[in-house]
Amino acid sequence: MTIDTSAIEAIVKKVMESIDDAEEKNIPVVDGQDGLFVDMNNAVEACYAAWQAYYRQPLALRYKVIDSIRKNFSKKEVVETVAAMAVEETGMGNYEDKVMKAYLTAEKTPGMEDLMADCWTGDEGLTLLELSPFGVIGAICPSTNPNETIVNNSIGMLAAGNGVVFAPHPGAIKTSQYCVKLANKAVVEAGGPENLIVSTTEASMENTNILMHHPLVKMMCATGGPGVVKAVLSSGKKAIGAGPGNPPALVDETADVEKAAKDIIDGCTFDNNLPCIAEKEVVVVDQVADYLIFNMKKNGAYEIKDKKTIDALADMVAPDGRVSRDYVGKSAKYIAKAAGLDVPEDTRVLIAECDASHPLVQIELMMPILGIVRVEDVDKGIELACDLEHGNRHTATMHSKNVDSLSKMSKMIQATIFVKNGPSYAGLGIGGEGYPTFTIAGPTGEGLTSAKSFARRRRCVLCGGFDIK
Ligand code: NAD
Repeated sequence: MTIDTSAIEAIVKKVMESIDDAEEKNIPVVDGQDGLFVDMNNAVEACYAAWQAYYRQPLALRYKVIDSIRKNFSKKEVVETVAAMAVEETGMGNYEDKVMKAYLTAEKTPGMEDLMADCWTGDEGLTLLELSPFGVIGAICPSTNPNETIVNNSIGMLAAGNGVVFAPHPGAIKTSQYCVKLANKAVVEAGGPENLIVSTTEASMENTNILMHHPLVKMMCATGGPGVVKAVLSSGKKAIGAGPGNPPALVDETADVEKAAKDIIDGCTFDNNLPCIAEKEVVVVDQVADYLIFNMKKNGAYEIKDKKTIDALADMVAPDGRVSRDYVGKSAKYIAKAAGLDVPEDTRVLIAECDASHPLVQIELMMPILGIVRVEDVDKGIELACDLEHGNRHTATMHSKNVDSLSKMSKMIQATIFVKNGPSYAGLGIGGEGYPTFTIAGPTGEGLTSAKSFARRRRCVLCGGFDIK
């Protein structure tokens, strides 16, 4: 999909003017208006009341609610607005990929069809394993996919019969609030109760802590870095943790190297490398390393060769080993300019050969920079790729025609998503089979979350009497 820059700028300008307008007019904040509460306790209580009403309704209502959320969030003007808002507010990612992500989330996130019951029948009767709701879920959202996480979590959590209180990232509060308001409206339009999807007027650690420890909240779901995952796992509640990754792309000597180079660049540059699944570093068998780099350059990579320049780039984007927010989700050209590099107009990613201990390969940078490490053979490559993934069990890609090597890598790395011979986003259902999610729970093991991840397993037993085998 292509849209010219002036059209994007016009959309962004219109959206931001309408928000600034409301702020300047000092429109008083009414607690609970459109699902936004000044007080987190009030937000949780309102959501609890809404959930009680929702859960007692026939399932037909849930189908309508999910359908309405999908319809509202896949309207062209809404997609364009949230994509523009997210780019403008966070300063990260790119509009065109965000448009694609917004459609993907609204249209393809699994709904009620995800909740299949299991059953056993026999001489002793009939037993059902049903998936029922937890109640109110607290969901903490990242700055990197603010709108996608809210829409994706809302569909999955409400399909499973829950209500949800969102704690957005402070850096994406406007985009998040826009989505909460619209989601609320969609629920009500479908005949559901108000406040099934709520949030607060301010994003603060204090609010998040109230949410995590509120007795009416029965499950916490955190999508973000290591800090927030650790926090929800210490909350004493049932928790889903979708944490960081550092996905390696491994290329061996049997790979279709031309295709591997294109796939890696396409995956790495998607939304300026913001997705947690996006390729963050490359490990390549020496025999094909030069040819891979040659082909990466043909696909928009700019290679930095001078060691001093490579180190200076690493110092700029990750001073003292901590990622600088100034460059997260920025384009390769932006980063190159900041680093004083004169790169061609069509540069999509900066690449540099480094050793395995270099920050450009060790750190989850979330920007279109790829450190490349050469290895002697595929076994050494698998070992190193596992090392660089840091045990996150998140995502890895591998380009190879050798089934034994693919199999070995998948077993050793134990990543939640393992893409073979494709770009990482194939793991989200873009050019690969399967459904999308923006909450990939490696640490707690739910994997690619969907409605059933937000449901309890309950056994329902009818003793004797019903068996027609
Ligand atoms: P972040 O960790 O800075 O923030 C995420 C959320 O957690 C925010 O709402 C923030 O306010 C809150 N938070 C942070 N520390 C907290 C703490 N100690 N207690 C309570 N709340 C806390 O993450 P980000 O920069 O917005 O997102 C990028 C990170 O998230 C990357 O590491 C990326 O890999 C990861 N991520 C993972 C997934 C996944 O599905 N596994 C999806 C998106 C992003």
